[in-house]
This record gives sequence, C-alpha cells and structure tokens, in this order.
Amino acid sequence: MSHILTPPEIQTVVRERYGFQGSAESLISYQNQNFRLTVNPGEVYLFKVAFDSESPEFLEAENAALRHLALSGMADHVPQVQMTSRGEDICEFELKGQVFRARLLSYLPGNIMGVQTVRNPEALHDFGKMLGRMDTILLEFQHPALNRTWEWDIARAWTLQKETVHIGDPAMRRLVDYFMLQYETEILPQIPGLRRSVIHNDANEMNLLADDTGQVTGIFDFGDLVYTCTIFELAIALTYVLALSDDLLPAAAKLVAGYHSELPLSEQEVDLLYILVATRICMSHIHASIQHARQPDNDYIMVSQESLYALLNKLVELNPVSIQNMLRRACGMDPLAGKAATISISSARAEYVGPNLSLAYQDHLQIDRGAMQYLYDNTGKTYLDCVNNVTHVGHCHPHIVRAANAQMATLNTNSRYLHAAMVTYAERLAATLPEPLNVCFFVNSGSEANELAIRLARTYTGARDMLVLDHAYHGNTSGVVDLSPYKFNGRGGSGRPDNVWPVPIPDPYRGIYRGGDPGTAKRYADEVRKSLQELESSGRAVAAFFAESISGCGGQVFFPQGYLENAFRHVRDAGGLCVADEVQVGFGRVGSHFWAFEMQDVIPDIVTMGKPMGNGHPLAAVVTTREIAEAFDNGMEYFNTFGGNPVSCAIGHAVLDVIESEELQANALEVGEYHLGGLVDLADRHEIIGDVRGAGLFIGVELVKDRQTLEPAGEEAARIVESMKDRGILLSIDGPLHNVIKIKPPMVFSRQNVDRMISNLTSVLEDLQ
Ligand code: PMP
Repeated sequence: MSHILTPPEIQTVVRERYGFQGSAESLISYQNQNFRLTVNPGEVYLFKVAFDSESPEFLEAENAALRHLALSGMADHVPQVQMTSRGEDICEFELKGQVFRARLLSYLPGNIMGVQTVRNPEALHDFGKMLGRMDTILLEFQHPALNRTWEWDIARAWTLQKETVHIGDPAMRRLVDYFMLQYETEILPQIPGLRRSVIHNDANEMNLLADDTGQVTGIFDFGDLVYTCTIFELAIALTYVLALSDDLLPAAAKLVAGYHSELPLSEQEVDLLYILVATRICMSHIHASIQHARQPDNDYIMVSQESLYALLNKLVELNPVSIQNMLRRACGMDPLAGKAATISISSARAEYVGPNLSLAYQDHLQIDRGAMQYLYDNTGKTYLDCVNNVTHVGHCHPHIVRAANAQMATLNTNSRYLHAAMVTYAERLAATLPEPLNVCFFVNSGSEANELAIRLARTYTGARDMLVLDHAYHGNTSGVVDLSPYKFNGRGGSGRPDNVWPVPIPDPYRGIYRGGDPGTAKRYADEVRKSLQELESSGRAVAAFFAESISGCGGQVFFPQGYLENAFRHVRDAGGLCVADEVQVGFGRVGSHFWAFEMQDVIPDIVTMGKPMGNGHPLAAVVTTREIAEAFDNGMEYFNTFGGNPVSCAIGHAVLDVIESEELQANALEVGEYHLGGLVDLADRHEIIGDVRGAGLFIGVELVKDRQTLEPAGEEAARIVESMKDRGILLSIDGPLHNVIKIKPPMVFSRQNVDRMISNLTSVLEDLQ
C-alpha cells in the first residue's frame, strides 16, 4: 500500500526542490495523487505524482512529448513541465521509506469540457482542429518508451475478448460481444496497414478544458500516450463527444471535419471510425465491469458507464454505411455506392436465379449486414426486424458466430464417426422435451424434418394416409408440398392428393366454429374424427396427423384450448401418430413454454423442428420415441450427409447456450405481453384491427374491413406493411386471405423496440384513415 501524501508534505517537497513557496491542495481522485499548488494568485501548478506502473522512461517520454508540443506552437494548450532548481524535469523524493516520482506542471485554465462544447458546432469543429494540429505535430515525434504494450491501446482491444463475462447485464454483454466481434473482423486485419504515430490516446472530456463558450482550450493528462494507429485519437475523442451529444451525426461530422482540415484522413481511416468508437466503448465498459466485479459495492464505477451504454445502444441502431457516408461527406470524400449495386444484383438475380423465388416489398431491399434485431441496407438505412424468427437469438449473434468459426477451424465431417457434439446436443435437446421424446435425427431443413417424420410414421404404422390442417405449410419438397394445403390448394397447386385429408383449421376468430371455449375445441376435434371415419370407410388407414402447434402460414392462428388434446386422442384411437411441426414456433418463442405444443397440454409422438434451431445455419431435427425410432430401423440405413455434422451441432449448442444465458424465453414472455398490450390498445382505437392474438413473440394482427362480416382488409394490410417498411420496420403478411400481419422478431427484441413499432404503427393506421 502506497503512502498517502499530504498537502504539507508536498509543500515541503516543492519548497525544497523547486524553491516555490505555495499552498497545496489534494486532488486525490480514483487512484492518482495530484495536488494543486497555488504560489501566487494566478500562478498555479499541478504537482503530479506518478503511478507505480509509470516507469521513469515513460515519464521522460511524456515530458519530451509535452516539450515537443510546446515548441511547435501548442504551449497554450498543453501543460508545461517545470524544472527543479537542479534542472531536473522529474522530481524524485523519498518519504516514509518510499520513493516517489513527480512532476510539476503548469495548470491550464478552463473548465472540464461539457455540453456547451458538444452543442456548439463551431467549438466542436475547432476542437477537431486542435486535436488534428496536435497529432500533426506528434507525427514528427518518437520515443522508445512509447512503443509499448498498453491495455488502453485500441490495437490491443482483442485481449479483452474473454473478459466480457464480467458484464452482468445480458443485453449489454451481447452488444459488447457483438462489437468486439466486429472489431476483430473489420479492424484487426487492417491495423498493419494503418498510419501510425504517437497519440494522446485519451481525449475524453475529463482531460479536456473549455472556456465558458465551450471553446476547447487545452488538453492534459498524457499518461495514455502510445505509439499506435493515428486514427484511434479521433475515434476516442469522438466517443466521448458522442456520449455527451443528443444529436450524434451532426456532432460527429463537425469534429471529424475539423480534424481532417488539419490532418487529412484517408477514406480507409474515416470508414473505420464507427467500429472504433464502438470498440472504445466496449473497452471502457469491460474495464469498468472487471473493476466492478472486484469492488461490487462501488456503484460509482458503473454510473460513469451509463452514457456510454446509451451510446452503444444508439450506435447499433445506426447503419454503419450512414455514418461512413456522413463522415466521408464531412471530409469532402465521395460516399460509398448504394442504389446502383441493388440494381445490378436485381438484374443478375433475374438472369441466373429461378424466377419463382419471390422478393419482399415493392421496392426490394439489399440487406448487407445485421446486428441482433437490426438489419442494415446498402443505402444507409436501418430496419427493425420484426419478422425474422430464424435468427432466433439475433442477427450475427457473437456467441453463435464464434462457435461456428471455432468448429469450422477444427473439424467438419459427416456423422459416420463418433463425435461428442452430436450426442451431447441430442441429449440436451431431448432434455427440453417431455418423455418419451428422446431419440433425435438431424437434418438440414424443416422440409427435410417433415419428410423424415412422414417416413417414420409410415414405417411405424404401415399406413399411408395423412391428416393435415387446412392452410398448413410443412415445406418445399414434393413429399411435404403434398401435406401443405397452403401449396396444393394455392396458386400453381394441383389439389389434394388422395391420401391427404385436410381438416378445418381450428380458427376461433373466423373458422367454421368460433370462440375460444372448450366447446369450440371439441367441435373442431370432432371434424378430425369425422375425417378419420371417412378415411377408414374408404378402406384407408391413417399414418399421422400433422399439425403445427400454432398455425403460421394459416395466419398466426392459436387453437382453442383442448383442441390438440382431443384431436390427438381421435388420431391415436384410429392407430395414427401425432406429429407436432414446431419449425416456426419452437425454442421458447411462445414465452410460457419452450415448445408451443406444451401450451395445449399434449405430448406428440414426433416433433419436427428447424428454423430457429441454428439461428440461420441450416440445422433441423426430428425427435421421436425409442419405439418409433426402432421400428424405423428396418434394415434400410438412414444417412444424411450434412445432418448432425460437428459445425451444425456446435451451432445448435450455441443457440441453446444463448437462450439460457440471456434468459430469452423469459424475455419473449415479458416483451411479448407488453407488445400484445400495445396492439390491443391500438385495436380499441382502430376498427380495422379485427383480432390481436399471440403468445410471447409470436403475434398476429388480423385486419378486417368490417368487424361483423370479417371481410378481410388484405390491401390495407399490404399498404401498412409497405408504409412500415418505409419507416424502417419490417413486417410480413400471411393467412389464406393475406390479411394477417405477422410479428415474430428475434428473441432479443426489447420494450424500446416495441415502443418504436407501436408508435409507427399508430401513425401508419392514422394515415390510413
Ligand atoms: N414447417 C413450417 C411450419 C414452416 O413454417 C416451414 C417454413 N416456412 C417449414 C416447415 C419448412 O422449413 P424449411 O423452409 O426449413 O424447409
């Protein structure tokens, strides 16, 4: 433990060594021992005692840099080192058996930089200029002690990657991990090619002085000096200016333009600023979290992080291209190309890709990047993704990307060798399901999962026929198109195959029986029984009843309570199996349960799953009982080249990790209820909303022209979805009448996202009237 120096001790040291008679006042802050020394009114110094970690060589380098800056015309803006009576610029003294090193520096006038500066465009521009001038002068400066390994050097941010575990809040941890990943991907490979020089490396507001008008007058505390990439200087200054600003983009443009006018930047440097700012926030937040983990009672550590956290949240909502283009323009550079790229992709797609692959929206989007619940297009616009239930835990979720990369770099083979990932994953998946569902088959898509379910059911029962719900969609292969009324009864379809029996969709809102009571459920289940009787009387036998646990393509239809229970009983009585298609709705999306069939209190014989399972990587599965799996093992091998490969399984594990560690099922429940509440309020004010239904983050809004006749408002639905897209919110439409707005966002969706969605939808509905 270091001796705590007192003002009288300092007065003595200064008198003896510098010949100054002054009064010292302690400025003890977090870990430094600094003193303000007043010699005469108007003659003030800072007596700065070095940290143990600051070597004499480093102090010499710092002094040399300050002298170099003063000699090159910045004497008024940086502290000047005072010499002792013996002409030393470092004053070494001993007290209580301990050696201290200190320096006496001129005390610069002014106040700590604050909002006056960031709200004053001229002041920001001039601040940029001052920084640019300082860095231009430092281009000529070298000192061996500055070629150092310094934890606050952005070039070394990668060393903090594993330390994000100290961040308590899962949403913040995810965001920091995301930007650390972007740093590793985008910045690290470019570092060797970037211009390097000595930089101050900590132009945060606490190290900057300004006058009453906000004009920045000085910069001090050169304790972070390091020889590194020059652009980091501006990135750091930008970080703290933005943390203080309400109006991010104009503030950034002013600061960067000012800097560029003194020290011209390259396009490459400008383009990196967005991720560099985010990286600096991450570094600060990780360091603070490490400290907070060591001193959990010291809440002050995290208080200072609040504005940075808020800034990181704002940054993720800004398309990097929009910032790059704005900063490029501020520096007189050409913006990155946008629209032209979209047009050439469109024409190449028309030429080389099958024509019946549709594109969303009237004006097609070129999406180039994604971050959690946000998508970024090529023109600089950000979209809030309210429909992508495939990227379940978020676009480019860092944990998933890292798990995939690591396994790709280690091994990817087929399943004919023993590999732990597949069995541990199967075990983990089985643990999410009720007994006796514990045998897994791994495949690559929901369609393939349903194909395999057909084979399992037919082999087990020896029967061929299938019951399906009207309007259902089970996939794109010929076998499952045959099970999908949505396809075979839709445009280009060739009608019901002989062995497929659609039963009425148990839609309590506009189905053949209405209302959510158990009586409705029974009546719909009786329709299943009737179909089974019809099927049997025509000399056929049922292999399985396929049902999504909530109908997706059928229009986000939630079945009346008791429907599946009764329907399953009838199917089993007739010798058939019950297949739950959880491809859309599984993995905690409904909030109250991990699997949507659990909401109906049933246990299927076969469960198929896909979409969210691999967060966008093609990973799907069929889980069934030992008995059914053994019946399927009839001599013919089941081999699937890609199914269950180590990379897929590593990703599957990673998805489950994130659902658990970020408590996303609970988030779906909470945010989903909040979302439903907002929509129900909207329905009270807008007649066009006929029905709002949902569970967790699986929601449908059915639009009608008339609440009595239920005449569908399909055109209005299309217009709403287009207008919402123009406002940066992505939604889609489904249902046989194309009048149900689907809401099924990544599970990281937040209350703030709901607020944005609802306020925009409110305006769009008002415009519609
Ligand atoms: N089942 C359901 C319920 C689906 O929604 C889908 C895809 N929309 C599928 C199966 C088919 O999945 P995939 O596209 O992965 O083959």
